[in-house]
Amino acid sequence: MLKELTHYVGGQHIKGESGRVLEVFNPATGEVTSKVPMAGAEEVEKTIENAQVAFYDWAATPSPKRAAVMFAMREIMSQRREELATVISAEHGKTVDDALGEVQRGIDVIEFACGIPHLLKGELSTDVGGGIDTFSIREPLGVVGGITPFNFPVMVPCWMGVMAVACGNSFICKPSERNPSAPLMMGELWTEAGLPDGVWNILNGDKIAVDGLLMHSDVPAISFVGSTAIGEYVYQTGTAQNKRVQAFCGAKNHMVVMPDADMDQAVDALMGAGYGSAGERCMAISVAVPVGKSTADELVKRLKPRVQALKVGPYTDIEADMGPVITSQAKDRIEKLIAKGEEEGAELVVDGRKVSLQGYENGFFLNGSLFDRVTTDMDLYKQEIFGPVLSIARAQDFDSAVEMVNGHEYGNGVAVFTQSGDVARSFSKQVDVGMIGVNVPIPVPMAFHHFGGSKRSKFGDTQMHGPQSVHFFTKLKTVSARWPSGIEGGAQFTMPTNR
Ligand code: NAD
Repeated sequence: MLKELTHYVGGQHIKGESGRVLEVFNPATGEVTSKVPMAGAEEVEKTIENAQVAFYDWAATPSPKRAAVMFAMREIMSQRREELATVISAEHGKTVDDALGEVQRGIDVIEFACGIPHLLKGELSTDVGGGIDTFSIREPLGVVGGITPFNFPVMVPCWMGVMAVACGNSFICKPSERNPSAPLMMGELWTEAGLPDGVWNILNGDKIAVDGLLMHSDVPAISFVGSTAIGEYVYQTGTAQNKRVQAFCGAKNHMVVMPDADMDQAVDALMGAGYGSAGERCMAISVAVPVGKSTADELVKRLKPRVQALKVGPYTDIEADMGPVITSQAKDRIEKLIAKGEEEGAELVVDGRKVSLQGYENGFFLNGSLFDRVTTDMDLYKQEIFGPVLSIARAQDFDSAVEMVNGHEYGNGVAVFTQSGDVARSFSKQVDVGMIGVNVPIPVPMAFHHFGGSKRSKFGDTQMHGPQSVHFFTKLKTVSARWPSGIEGGAQFTMPTNR
């Protein structure tokens, strides 16, 4: 009997009503493990109504009390991190160690949100003119929506939702249909932490649920993380409804390896950043750009045996470096891109398409693949592969490496490996990319800094977490106040000035 998953609305599990369900898989075995309901328009409506009611009291709750819930959630999530990580891995396929890292990056945002009273402090100027003081207030927006991808089913809802609710909003998360169990568990944990019912909701669904949130007049803001095609649609549809929208999207992250780089470090970095989580990270490195022929030859020579030695396995195998990819369709797509790369003339140094894992023959596994001599006109280079495939695109010199990075449509993350501060500094200034690593392959900023890409990796102005998230999830009011003793008599018909 398959497990029937639910929604989590108003502090409780709610059965799906639309009659539409999707199958959820264990990617390691290829087996269907549960069915998840796809919300219909009426369920979207009811969830928004419920969240709206919850919003009034929550918005009026003093920020130190909201912070107390964040402190409680931090403790609960820390205590339950292993359980949560296992739930993630069972549907995502990533190793439990990797999932533990994801949970920690979610907890990091909760820790940041514990300081919400401080983060919400406004500005004050006294005596701006004629006994007038001016101060600013940041108020929550209402019911805000979060649409999240499969690759971080706990971390991404935390990155957006935690800051949304800390600011006093209620939050409806529409998680990925691929791995809904961890987001549902998060819903329960919030209730345990004392968050009032209806403030954090999980509404499972597909385009119907997303469109329901996008078109609803009681949802003033949407935060999206996922592919560029859907993110652009969400951004355009939402902003056309006068909503505030931020959309964090696809990527093709380069790592430039300069001739003076520490090669041991660079190779280790490429292995982890290219193949960790089976390459299914928006900050994965998918293109290595060695500068100069000898750097490239050395890099390929060192990478080849390491890629061949990668160990894939189910999340229950603690020795596995990476797990399967998310679906059989994703596996097919990656295999096709590898075949296309060969047709396009790239040199397939390691072919990861053949996997034999006893007992897991139906799992969605791929070994690591490595391509050399990839050029910028190839599909292999242009498309986000989102799998364990690393391309080496050789550059003649520093300037052509920078030109390559800037010529790609995506600009999420990038790294440079070098021993020269001068090179690193020029690189950081010249690349049009949101997050830059200097000898750091996956430069995901900590929760108190900002996350966000450039070019077609992001739509909207504000970044995720960090102080800008407070701006995204609140509206600013500015009050100019003069008390009676400062008021001179008589009407004034000219433009008020402070002279
Ligand atoms: P996706 O775009 O397929 O799905 C993201 C969300 O959109 C899911 O909740 C999904 O149900 C919903 N969705 C899918 N099709 C839709 C449609 N037609 N209309 C409305 N909603 C729809 O992305 P994914 O495969 O879950 O995640 C992988 C992608 O996410 C990659 O491109 C990756 O780079 C990106 N990503 C980006 C970041 C970032 O911060 N830039 C972080 C993580 C993942």
